[in-house]
Amino acid sequence: MKETRSTCCYCGVGCGVVITSEGERITAVRGDADHPSNRGRLCTKGSTLHLTASPAASAGRATHPEMRRDRALPRGRFTWDETLDHVADRFAACIREHGPDSVAFYISGQLLTEDYYVFNKLAKGLIGTANVDTNSRLCMSSAVTGYQQTLGVDAPPCSYEDLDHAQCLFIAGSNTAHAHPVLFRRIEAARERNPALKVIVVDPRRTETARFADLHLPILPGTDVALFHAMLHLMLWDERIDREYIAAHVEGFDELRVAVREWTPAVAAEVCGVKAEDIATAAKWFATSPATLSLYCQGLNQSSSGTAKNAALVNLHLATGQIGRPGAGPFSLTGQPNAMGGREVGGLATTLAAHRSLTSAIDRAEMARLWGVDRVPDRAGKTAVELFDALHSGEVRMVWIACTNPAQSMPNLPKVHEALARAELVVLQEAYRDTETAPFADVLLPATTWGEKEGTVTNSERRITRVRAAVAAPGEARDDWAIAVDFARRLETRLAPGKPSIFPFESPEAVWNEHREATRGRDLDITGLTYAMLEREPQQWPFPEGASEGRVRLYTDGVFHTPTGKAKFFTGAYRPVAEKADARFPLQLTTGRLRDHWHGMSRTGNVAQLFGHVPEPRLGMSATDMTRRGLADGELVRIQSRRGAIHVLAAIDPELRSGQVYLPMHWGKRFLGGKDSAGTNTITNPAFDRDSRQPELKHASVKVEAVALP
Ligand code: SF4
Repeated sequence: MKETRSTCCYCGVGCGVVITSEGERITAVRGDADHPSNRGRLCTKGSTLHLTASPAASAGRATHPEMRRDRALPRGRFTWDETLDHVADRFAACIREHGPDSVAFYISGQLLTEDYYVFNKLAKGLIGTANVDTNSRLCMSSAVTGYQQTLGVDAPPCSYEDLDHAQCLFIAGSNTAHAHPVLFRRIEAARERNPALKVIVVDPRRTETARFADLHLPILPGTDVALFHAMLHLMLWDERIDREYIAAHVEGFDELRVAVREWTPAVAAEVCGVKAEDIATAAKWFATSPATLSLYCQGLNQSSSGTAKNAALVNLHLATGQIGRPGAGPFSLTGQPNAMGGREVGGLATTLAAHRSLTSAIDRAEMARLWGVDRVPDRAGKTAVELFDALHSGEVRMVWIACTNPAQSMPNLPKVHEALARAELVVLQEAYRDTETAPFADVLLPATTWGEKEGTVTNSERRITRVRAAVAAPGEARDDWAIAVDFARRLETRLAPGKPSIFPFESPEAVWNEHREATRGRDLDITGLTYAMLEREPQQWPFPEGASEGRVRLYTDGVFHTPTGKAKFFTGAYRPVAEKADARFPLQLTTGRLRDHWHGMSRTGNVAQLFGHVPEPRLGMSATDMTRRGLADGELVRIQSRRGAIHVLAAIDPELRSGQVYLPMHWGKRFLGGKDSAGTNTITNPAFDRDSRQPELKHASVKVEAVALP
């Protein structure tokens, strides 16, 4: 029997785990009491991780490379050499004939930082395309642009320990109780210790988190900016702002006053569908608390105005000086386990490594020198929705997908499925062989997964933790970074024969060391954070050479990463959701997570006990809307949007007000079945934020009708 310290592979809380294994079997998992992010706690998903590695659950694993040369035929088994040579030949020919932007990589916030780094270097360094985007685009890119536009760089300023210091918690667009359960336990404990702690929750649904709040603002979907502007309007009116802090540390105050002038409580109450006095109470508590901490997630991010929502919330902190102190600051929670690590290495089509910019000649030159290449792309590549649109139109011809399931998770699935069917080549690097994306794959590359791989991840509080292997990989499965390196070397011999390889990596630690060097002198400098240092304890960035510990909190000196050192107020306008409800599609659909499932259920779908909480997908509706349509609780309904339709059972949901319906995101074709039921995202809207390029997965207009059974 052996014990191995690692990290939970689900959400961005990044809980430390201790894995027990016997031989090559993982037999148990428990929370790591020494990990500062969870102190031994795990939620239902984390505490059942070992069951996802059981022999039964492993039956669906991809264990050997497979490929087909003819779409009409099933894939056959090949060796790694045969498979990677074939793909390298096809990619090289495509790049030679149609240019670097004719290929794309679509990767994942489930990948480790080392995996992300190699894919980013492969696309932007070797091939010369910025067409490398990630499913994190669907989850947190609005948080990135929100921070960039206000604080200068993509750096969350807070830590989980701020939950213990806060006197007021402002939770917006986050059902923390279900999406980040271990953090919610910490919030509950904080209130037990401090009954004076005020909790405000902004959410259209009366979720478990909202029920915990002292004040719940059930705003209409997408109206967050109107609410935040109105709160600021009141803070200005009541002189509850910190003029000294603003004068010393923030730019754009005069423009801000103009931007929020029209947002009286009465106007905002009408737009947001909440009481004016509740807006006033929220503004007062936020501004007058000794320490206000905001927590926010997909409700702000997955929106066609996601950047504005994030930035308007940061405004509240800058205007009141609620930042850079214990218990105060705007704290974006990441959904995926390594969305942060991907951001750090520039694993997005819009960024370069270590928060460098594709549009800065200095940054590009630095990156090219570090990578030993002539140049890196000078413009953004295709982001998630654009990438599959380009695949659909033929502008992008070949796609390499790693550790993600876009045939279930992308909005407007009918078009995404068509795009995958039209692609000249689809390469899928995956641990599981039965995802919704697998049938589209011409090549399936078996990858290792949690419990089998080595590397690092960064959680929401900038804390980097080692991920360790407890058991060997099944069959011929290989680590994601190693597959990418092997392919990159084969592509080098075809695109740049005779040149020394820029992929000298023989271990994840070697990749990590190059990544560390790329951060030298940057805001997220981790040059001092070696694997040896991480062996001792997880650490927060920045962690420059010579440091003995990371930084708990950023901007404590009021100096921001902008040319002037001052933060900037966001002064943009409120914009409603992209798709308004109308006579044809009168209901507003929102989607979200369940407590006990993760993404497309590739992993949690294998654990029977995780179906105890919610056993099957149900469309939540208010009792009023069900009665109006003559629907009974548990009746089969058809939900239709402008993009498609799915069939599920309807259920009365007391969390919803009339006019709104709710559907969990997790169930795909494998579970729903049916010709037109590829999953929730069959009906969601691909409209995206113009700055963050994050699609509006949180809102679509739909109609719901009973299905006549034969
Ligand atoms: Fe895993 Fe998140 Fe649960 Fe922690 S809170 S155990 S990281 S799913």
